[in-house]
This record gives sequence, structure tokens and C-alpha cells, in this order.
Amino acid sequence: MPKQDERATSTLHEAGLLIEKDSYLTLDGHLILVGEDKSRIRPMIFKRFKNRCCICGHPLDEGAPKWTPNAGAWHHPGSCSCVGCTELRCDETTGRKCHAHREAGVIFTRKADALKAFNKLYPESA
Ligand SMILES: [Zn+2]
Ligand SMILES: [Zn+2]
Ligand SMILES: [Zn+2]
Repeated sequence: MPKQDERATSTLHEAGLLIEKDSYLTLDGHLILVGEDKSRIRPMIFKRFKNRCCICGHPLDEGAPKWTPNAGAWHHPGSCSCVGCTELRCDETTGRKCHAHREAGVIFTRKADALKAFNKLYPESA
């Protein structure tokens, strides 16, 4: 975990700009956000990228649920959640590979397929 700038962090909390006690500003000026603080920033990411995937340009909708064509994913290249450090990409569940870094290229286009594969891997949990 990056080191916390304690003075700046407590100022942000006092000003009501950070709500969650685990959200903080790092010494090198990045925001580490959790919970409510994180969900408040998410719409700004959609705004910053004009509701488009930064890889393929496909239109994305902030309210679109997973497994729909316009579902977006908030990509965090680092550990911070700054608006300027993060990106908007197509969610894996759209079937497009723009945000495939976690699953090492395994992409499901339908929830049913994902479930099937999951149950094969973890038969106990079915
Ligand atoms: Zn940052
Ligand atoms: Zn995309
Ligand atoms: Zn990501």
C-alpha cells in the first residue's frame, strides 16, 4: 500500500470530500478510494471519456448492467482511483477484449457460458 499523506487526508475528510475512513491521499498525490468514495468518482470517469471505451471507442453507459453491450469497466492501471490515472473500457461481459487483462484472454459473451465454465472449474459450488 502506498504511504498516506496524513495531513492532507484528514483535511479531505474534514471537508467532506472523502467519506470512507479507509480512503486516503498518498504522499505522491494519488487518491486511494473505497466504498462510497469510489462510487462517487465512477460517473466522472464516464464523463471524462465521453461515455466511450478508450481502447475501441464503443459507446458505454454508466447505468448499463454487466452482460449488456454498453457495460463499462473502470480500469485502474495503478492502485489509485484518480480520475486522471484511470480509464474507461468495455466490460469483459460485453464480449469485447478491451478490459481482458485479468482473465488472461478468457472472454464470455453470455452469463450462461460463464456460469457453465465456472461450474466446471468449481463443481462443489454449484
Ligand atoms: Zn492516481
Ligand atoms: Zn472497448
Ligand atoms: Zn482494469
